[in-house]
Amino acid sequence: MKEKIHHGTYDGAYVSDTSIAHCYANRTMVLTDGRGATVRDRSGRRYIDFTAGIAVNILGHGRRDLARIAAREMRRRVHVSNLFASVPTLELASHLVASGPFTACFFGNSGSEANEAALKFARLYAHRTRGAGHHGIVSFSNGFHGRTMGSLSATYKAAYREPFEPLIGGVHYLPYNDVDALQQLDERTAAVIVEPMQGEGGLTVMNDDFAAALNEICREHDIILIADEVQSGLGRTGRLYGSHAVGLAPDIVTLSKPLAAGLPLSATLIPERINALLSPGDHGSTFGGGPVVTAVGLKVWQEVTRRGFVDRVREAGEMIAAKLSDMSANSDILGQPRGLGLLRGVPVETGGSDDGSVLGRIMEAARSEGLLILRSGSNVIRLAPPLNIRDRELTEGLARLERAVQQIEHEHHKEKHTV
Ligand code: PMP
Repeated sequence: MKEKIHHGTYDGAYVSDTSIAHCYANRTMVLTDGRGATVRDRSGRRYIDFTAGIAVNILGHGRRDLARIAAREMRRRVHVSNLFASVPTLELASHLVASGPFTACFFGNSGSEANEAALKFARLYAHRTRGAGHHGIVSFSNGFHGRTMGSLSATYKAAYREPFEPLIGGVHYLPYNDVDALQQLDERTAAVIVEPMQGEGGLTVMNDDFAAALNEICREHDIILIADEVQSGLGRTGRLYGSHAVGLAPDIVTLSKPLAAGLPLSATLIPERINALLSPGDHGSTFGGGPVVTAVGLKVWQEVTRRGFVDRVREAGEMIAAKLSDMSANSDILGQPRGLGLLRGVPVETGGSDDGSVLGRIMEAARSEGLLILRSGSNVIRLAPPLNIRDRELTEGLARLERAVQQIEHEHHKEKHTV
């Protein structure tokens, strides 16, 4: 039964005609609360959550410990600005910096901002060390780096970019995982920005040769190698960073989604040779790295770096991989499974241009089974559960996924037969 009230029209678990901008779907499910890897919609129905807020809620829903930390810090002070320091901010920065060859951390509020900062720092470095004209930025086919003008400029998908052109100049796209194409890099290139595993662009994982070639060519020309680990970072791939999983040795790492387990926070981790060139005023952010979000981030950091945490992500990932392989072997519409750790997927290949719509129907059927899943690219099923999901929920979620795929595959075959 539809119920229209001043902020939208409700229809069971769904709401439409809201005051939210139409860059998001008009009709969406309303989620009210959750516990662990389970969320509940407004009709009271529970779902196993293989979306984790698009790879954000790595510690699951309904965490009282995180709520207590945030409330404690809010009672003390919510915000001090970057004119002053707060202890959680300093502590989290020092942990992050110690996680690789970095000396400093710039905090922002989103993945786009983390990449924006990375690109600015790389250009500043090239400008101050090599002079004007060395500002090139290279990114890769199917890469996704954000929606702000700078990060969008490095994002591959033309439909995301074209309405907003002209974007920043000097950006070139090369084919992902193509070693030969990297010969085009030279000292005019300030930065290469790349995902160790493409979260939005179809879950392609960087291959070893490509990682090795990137490391070498960037070192040769003093190009700042930026690993966009907004989605792959902090345990998601079964290693602390996706770069570790694929053998990439970046100068800068950007983090965001899981960094404060659902609160907005990002980090751009930079090496000494860049930090040494920065002066007050070169970059900044009003809210970036405030005490509330960084205190929660500290708790996330403790959990993710706890002994055995990422090993367990790898094991759980293997469970998904095995199930997807099995499903794929018994299906005419599923391609080869791909991914790392707990960021896994499988393409839906129906042989026509309708792959995307078949996937849409699988996502709907999964909901009916009580499972929330994601899409990557146009036709890849993406699974990104909380990293601490229990085996029982994982197994049950995969069983629901299998039923959803089987149902839609069956319907699809019947339709093809009747046409
Ligand atoms: N980089 C990657 C790899 C991402 O997956 C995303 C978000 N999907 C972003 C950048 C942009 O992050 P945000 O939406 O927080 O700006």
